[in-house]
Amino acid sequence: MFSLKLELKLNNKEKTKMAQHAGFSRFVYNYGLALMRMIDHQEIKGSSSKKIDTIKKVFTNYTKKQPDFNWCNKLSSRVYQNSFGDLKTAYSRHFQGLGGLPVFKSKKDKLSFTVDSSNGKVLLETGKTIKVPTLGTFRLKEAIPFSCISQTFTICKSGDRWFISFCVDAQRLPPRIHPIIEPIGIDLGCKIFATLSDGNVIESPRPYKKAKTKLGMTQYHNRNKQLGNGKQGIKASNNAKKYYHKIRKQHHQIACQRKDFLQQTTTKLCKTYAHIKIESLNVKGMMANHKLAASIADLGMYEFKRQLTYKAEWYANRIDVINQWYPSSKKCSNCGHKKEKLSLSDRLYVCGECGFEINRDLNASINLEQAPESVIVEKIGWVTSELTSVDSVSAFGAGGSRK
Ligand SMILES: [Zn+2]
Repeated sequence: MFSLKLELKLNNKEKTKMAQHAGFSRFVYNYGLALMRMIDHQEIKGSSSKKIDTIKKVFTNYTKKQPDFNWCNKLSSRVYQNSFGDLKTAYSRHFQGLGGLPVFKSKKDKLSFTVDSSNGKVLLETGKTIKVPTLGTFRLKEAIPFSCISQTFTICKSGDRWFISFCVDAQRLPPRIHPIIEPIGIDLGCKIFATLSDGNVIESPRPYKKAKTKLGMTQYHNRNKQLGNGKQGIKASNNAKKYYHKIRKQHHQIACQRKDFLQQTTTKLCKTYAHIKIESLNVKGMMANHKLAASIADLGMYEFKRQLTYKAEWYANRIDVINQWYPSSKKCSNCGHKKEKLSLSDRLYVCGECGFEINRDLNASINLEQAPESVIVEKIGWVTSELTSVDSVSAFGAGGSRK
């Protein structure tokens, strides 16, 4: 079993609904716990599980029917069923010596609750919406990566964002999530966004380049414009206002394009390649190099890595991060000879030892692909050494976030 966690895209009404259910869940948990403590005080015999079942009956048949508790009936009954379940788990953990006695949940605790489908597992189709049993259909920030089945859903709030998580049976995973399971090295560059060791290249999108040129031109033509100056009593001219509005719009457009590009690229990479090897980014160091700084900031290499990292969980990828000092660009991918000097302008790598000629970025990506275990500084996602066959589904269950 492993779990998927996706961010929900909720409107205010939906957010309120979620918060109400989380409150309901906390209320029921505390109600059950209060009665359990009373029972324990009177030294009544019986297992805690049986006692909680009895309390649940009292809640269903009596408490919930009181006029004061009318509000409970407007909310999903699966929430309180699960809250009692949670209480049972808390007690059984305690008796197994895994934790202290359960404590009351406070309003300061993280908002969360669980619902399940009372008539078995439900099918979740790939796509940007999710149908949650008894609650309805909600939009997702990013799509469910593959069709799967699940029965229990936990919704929680983190910061201002709401997430839904559910368990997926590893045996039920589509057997071929990734068409390619051999490791792939990815070299990030300024001229070409990413070069893959299998020869594929990802260029930054053309409209993006065009928009950048356009922005540069507009900025140049209006280099003397000033949007007023309060201190000097200079009012902004109408043309200046128009110009700044235009610039803002163009900046926004570029930001959107970059976002789309990165999302699409990282999703595609994660869906295609099971095992990705990238260089650890010394963003600060690279930013110090002025030539590189602009393009790195532009292309969002940092953002690229961040997205790759969190998508690795969803798409069951393994990502190896290679030490930034590993000489991926200086080494010859053919004979292993290491060049002393390599300037940024050398687009072609020519080995002085074996005479091998290769595109510089491709050489670096092949070196990343072949990087030995000793230079891997971080392993992200599905860290399992048994990930050798696409058809052996069980290998996917061997790593990742177990439940
Ligand atoms: Zn060589």
